[in-house]
Amino acid sequence: MPRKINIAIDGHSSCGKGTLAKNIAKELDYMFIDSGAMYRAVTLYMLQNQLSLEDVRTNPGILLNIEISFILDPFKGFYNTHLNGENVESLIRGMEVSKWVSEVSAVKEVREFLVNKQQRMGKDKGVVMDGRDIGSVVFPDAELKIFMTAEPSVRAKRRYLELQEKGINANYEEILHNIQHRDHYDSSRDISPLIQAPDAIVLNNTEMTKEEQSRIALTWAKGVILAG
Ligand code: C5P
Repeated sequence: MPRKINIAIDGHSSCGKGTLAKNIAKELDYMFIDSGAMYRAVTLYMLQNQLSLEDVRTNPGILLNIEISFILDPFKGFYNTHLNGENVESLIRGMEVSKWVSEVSAVKEVREFLVNKQQRMGKDKGVVMDGRDIGSVVFPDAELKIFMTAEPSVRAKRRYLELQEKGINANYEEILHNIQHRDHYDSSRDISPLIQAPDAIVLNNTEMTKEEQSRIALTWAKGVILAG
């Protein structure tokens, strides 16, 4: 039986971290955890309960009322995020949550709460987690760390086409601006900024297909597993 490892995938916004993480998890039969979905779920809870950032800072105990789980949809084959027992997968991707999630995720108490949960989820290994601080803060001992990036214009174009395919009205310039803004915000915040861990391998997928990037990352993962 090959040993199990943890795989941390960090990187810039909209460069396909989730897609890669899901593919690797599926191939290795590991658990995939979307840490961004957890920050989105906390944001949704705060919006639903009209809690301000200040409320959470002064009374972090209210976060203990939040229960987040990922439940497999057997028909679609992917995991839905559940908040206190309710499937909130669509709600957390909406504009209202997207607008506030960066502010919420910059709150120290929120980060401590979620990092703690994430570390517990990875304690038995066999986890592929994607986010911004996984290799640097959540799993500093992850056996494989990948830092993903791609040209902002390429990321914006992919996101634009993706939205068009879904029939959602999109504006390329607006998407590009949003990507650049989030890169800057995530990289320059005080707590757990997006940084490349010194031992992370860079995967620049500007000129790669999804299949190529998965193949490369899987080769790395299998190499690490066998080397242990
Ligand atoms: O990954 P996704 O874009 O859904 O994440 C939403 C937001 O949550 C990001 O823009 C980032 O501000 C925050 N985030 C974070 N740390 C993580 C994952 C996400 O701060 N590990």
